[in-house]
Amino acid sequence: RWDPILGAGLRDTDPATLFDKIISGAIPAAIVKQDDKMMAFKDINPAGPAHVLIIPKDRNGLTRLGKASVEHKEILGHLMVTAAEISNDKSLGFGDGARVVVNDGPDGGQEVMHLHVHVIGGRAMQWPPG
Ligand code: ADP
Repeated sequence: RWDPILGAGLRDTDPATLFDKIISGAIPAAIVKQDDKMMAFKDINPAGPAHVLIIPKDRNGLTRLGKASVEHKEILGHLMVTAAEISNDKSLGFGDGARVVVNDGPDGGQEVMHLHVHVIGGRAMQWPPG
């Protein structure tokens, strides 16, 4: 689905991730929103009519949600408020609401070890997820 060489950052210990390359511009992405703390861009393999990923620009230990601690409260809150703004943006294809997901580690199905919030919408979601 995506180049394993470009897809560095699959391990907690990797110094940089695929998403760092998107932040630096080395890999192009369809950016929908950004500021000095976060970047939101369209998922290359969308799970619905609308699928946006929101990432912290400074990974700062946040390889995965399970590594979060009190020092990450502000950025985590910022990512969630951004998820709300994006899910309300009809121009991105969202309807009424969205599925907002953080896959955490192997059991969560996380592949890129740079914390990211999935905002998926534009169709009614199923529950439970697979
Ligand atoms: P999963 O691949 O199982 O969803 P993650 O939660 O780690 O695991 O999500 C990584 C996401 O990054 C995937 O939805 C994938 O489609 C997306 N992705 C991978 N490469 C790119 C890229 N170059 N640009 C945008 N999105 C990408």
